[in-house]
Amino acid sequence: GTNSTTTSRADPLALLQQVFGYERFRGHQQAAVEHVVAGGDALVLMPTGGGKSLCYQVPALAREGTGVVVSPLIALMQDQVDALLELGVRAAYLNSSQTLDEARAVERAFVAGELDLLYVAPERLLTERCLALLERGRIALFAIDEAHCVSQWGHDFRPEYMGLSLLHERWPDVPRIALTATATEATRQEIVTRLGLEAAAQFVSSFDRPNIRYRIVEKNDVRRQLLGFIQGEHAGDAGIVYCLSRAKVEDTAEYLCGQGIAALPYHAGLPAEVRARNQSRFLREDGLVMVATIAFGMGIDKPDVRFVAHIDLPKSVEGYYQETGRAGRDGLPSQAWLAYGLQDVVQLRRMIDESDGDEQHKRRMGAQLDAMLGLCETVECRRTRLLAYFGEASPACGNCDTCLEPPEAWDGTVAAQKVLSAVYRLWKERGQRFGAGHIIDVLRGKKNARIEQYGHDALSVFGVGADLSERDWRGVLRQLIAHSLLTVDHEGYGTLTLTEGSRSVLKGERQLMLRRESERATRVRESRPR
Ligand code: ADP
Ligand code: ZN
Repeated sequence: GTNSTTTSRADPLALLQQVFGYERFRGHQQAAVEHVVAGGDALVLMPTGGGKSLCYQVPALAREGTGVVVSPLIALMQDQVDALLELGVRAAYLNSSQTLDEARAVERAFVAGELDLLYVAPERLLTERCLALLERGRIALFAIDEAHCVSQWGHDFRPEYMGLSLLHERWPDVPRIALTATATEATRQEIVTRLGLEAAAQFVSSFDRPNIRYRIVEKNDVRRQLLGFIQGEHAGDAGIVYCLSRAKVEDTAEYLCGQGIAALPYHAGLPAEVRARNQSRFLREDGLVMVATIAFGMGIDKPDVRFVAHIDLPKSVEGYYQETGRAGRDGLPSQAWLAYGLQDVVQLRRMIDESDGDEQHKRRMGAQLDAMLGLCETVECRRTRLLAYFGEASPACGNCDTCLEPPEAWDGTVAAQKVLSAVYRLWKERGQRFGAGHIIDVLRGKKNARIEQYGHDALSVFGVGADLSERDWRGVLRQLIAHSLLTVDHEGYGTLTLTEGSRSVLKGERQLMLRRESERATRVRESRPR
């Protein structure tokens, strides 16, 4: 906050212009700022790049005392503080990367009222020592950044966040502002309840990122597809490639490097100094591709990330939105590219089954995966579907793959019946369960060793699906699993079983419209996005 000699800085717009050098507030910034300056609690939901930081930085300057910012990302505090110091804002942080002497100096400055903003990691803040320190100074506000970390079901859950309700109990008169870019109704409700923000004003922005083009392609040879995508459309651009496993991160980074693309690996299993070095190179150098697990990216403010590619299916729409949101923060055309296939569905369903946690937790994870699969298999505009997930209605966008190259919707009822009856007969007549590959071989009437070994060429369904290609059948099976009309087993072999829903399809009570990629959409395009 300002000291008495600079009271003229207390006007939010003047602060925005004079300290931060911006002409005007954007979107809900002004309303949120004014509300907090007046002492009210706020919950700010804004997409990544929307400008959340100013929502607490300006009030921290406008109000008397220090704005205390709870941020989970120690690695980024330094960057944020450096940027503020450059603007002449008196900012500092307290975290475990400091020496004792450095921390003492920050503490003294806080108590002396010489700080406008103080960044603290939640686990640090909640120590008795830190709480006692805060008692000795004057607090302008509490900002709780990345507030969705309090959500137990979300992808970034941090147990320390649960303790933050204590701030309100100890400092009932200090306004709190919670900020996040994750905004499903359920998460929002959880933030409100867990942080005791029932009386907070909510400032909810549109989550649309119009400059991001969404594309979801069918996975066949994912490395080659990724390479084609980068070389064909993003040569020399900065981008992020997300993978599910650490091993895949390392393989993929190595493969891209071998193909002449400057790629760096990032995952939680790498030594801290390697991670720090790769992250800072990615932020500071041009045209690097970061191949990473989802451990990378929260809070990363690199404006010119031109693409985010997922070569494994994200576990939820929220995760997908967060990760893709790291593209195009500068507002320039960017792409979110996801390659997805049957194996992803099998793998993620298995991970859910095998995860710790009770039935309720598994059901929630299953529902999140279903929503993600719905986005992958939709024949609607991707953006319409994505925003609908966040409760926002929007027309077809003209800037996603389904808008630009509409997939064919075809009546897959008969094909689905063939698959389901093959699964049914194998189980009923032979007591056997098989995975997708074998079922497809049976349907297509393939004579291989396995078929002969089991005598499956004698089944009535043998060869009934010779009219469709292997790829088409994989699409049918993938979509049946995506729509929960077929499930993948619990034992980890990927064998298929009918579900409650299968019956209505088998009995012909239900028509099933399926998606077929347009041929053009699966080819690598040479043109760059608009
Ligand atoms: P978020 O935390 O919501 O992802 P940031 O606070 O990092 O977003 O802001 C994203 C970018 O937009 C930053 O570069 C910031 O300086 C810029 N920005 C924010 N508000 C404004 C504004 N009112 N006018 C101009 N630029 C802004
Ligand atoms: Zn669209």
